[in-house]
Amino acid sequence: MKKQYLLLIVVAGLLTFFSSCKNETVYKTLIITGQNNHNWKASSPVLKQILDETGLFSAEIMTTPDKGGDMKTFNPDFSKYKLVVIDYNGDSWSEKTNNAFVEYVKNGGGVVFYHAADNSFPSWKEYNEMTGLGGWGNRNQKDGPYVYYKNNILVTDTSVGNGGSHGKRREFLVRTRITDHPITRGLPVAWLHGTDELYSQLRGPAKNMQILATAFADSAAGGGTMRDEPMLMTITFGKGRIFHTTMGHADEGGGPSMHCVGFITTLQRGAEWAVTGDVTQKVPWDFPSAAGVVLRPDFKEMTLDEAFANIGNYEIPKSTKYLSCIQSHIRNLAGDETGILKIEKMMVKVLKNNETTVEAKKLLLRELSWMGSDYSVPAIKELVLNSELKDEAEFALSRLQK
Ligand code: ZN
Repeated sequence: MKKQYLLLIVVAGLLTFFSSCKNETVYKTLIITGQNNHNWKASSPVLKQILDETGLFSAEIMTTPDKGGDMKTFNPDFSKYKLVVIDYNGDSWSEKTNNAFVEYVKNGGGVVFYHAADNSFPSWKEYNEMTGLGGWGNRNQKDGPYVYYKNNILVTDTSVGNGGSHGKRREFLVRTRITDHPITRGLPVAWLHGTDELYSQLRGPAKNMQILATAFADSAAGGGTMRDEPMLMTITFGKGRIFHTTMGHADEGGGPSMHCVGFITTLQRGAEWAVTGDVTQKVPWDFPSAAGVVLRPDFKEMTLDEAFANIGNYEIPKSTKYLSCIQSHIRNLAGDETGILKIEKMMVKVLKNNETTVEAKKLLLRELSWMGSDYSVPAIKELVLNSELKDEAEFALSRLQK
């Protein structure tokens, strides 16, 4: 055999080897929808986009027959998937499909229950064990206790009453209750969620369940129980791991509840945990704090290049997100002089650009005054001659030339 053929075979072999390695880390995901008292045509593509965005999942959407349709035709082969996401609230599936789903989870399949999925199937015992808690569908004391926090104490409440309610849609604070779980590790203890329904008074078997995060359903803020209601939960069922988020009431295009970086991040992390039992994803730089909601209408985390491409157009009082992105990268590079110099060079390039707004130059000068090096000095000296920037430029120079 000629040498070059041998080389070709080796290269082809290596390519197959690497692409097969890559495939192994992408989890095949099935999103089930097709009936819901919600806008599933809006929510399911958003769920797919959020999961695919991580590079960890490859999601496909499968729809059931319409309401009243023949459910015998709905027979997903669950064994083909590492993760099943339920965005469904409608007619019962066939017994065969129910059994196949139970077997899938028992044998270690991952599941995400999203928002009204916990309204589904009130009389399917195993399904309710998997969701842990549910609401509506005539759920009451027969279905299990209410579970919530009251005065920071976890309460299992068997009192009589209906399951499921929510007050007026609003922004609300989500509180992390378990901070050392892989899903919540590194998240702020409290963060503000985009306008959503605050699911309350859920009740169910609540077996093998952990409440990772809650939100206070304040009656003064548009109807509420005055309890800290479960928002994010994990449940185990057989060998299967389940992540349950009650958040994400969908508008056209997802809306603020699904654009919320808190919703997106916890969904992505919860989905990974459901598949592997661990989370490798970093907490993104734009994760919200208690101070304000952060929305990503395109579901993507902004990159440093995008921040630099846009910061030159900065105008007060427009969003500070471009600067925040750059600042966050600088913070994460603490001690890495090469990395910081690279960002400093990008900042100087924007400073030298005649198209850059005065506001953007002021922001960058302030930033450079504490993190810049000798590299910035010549460019800043030129700005001293600009009457609009003289003060900021002189201030930066005084700090840099100490
Ligand atoms: Zn809803």
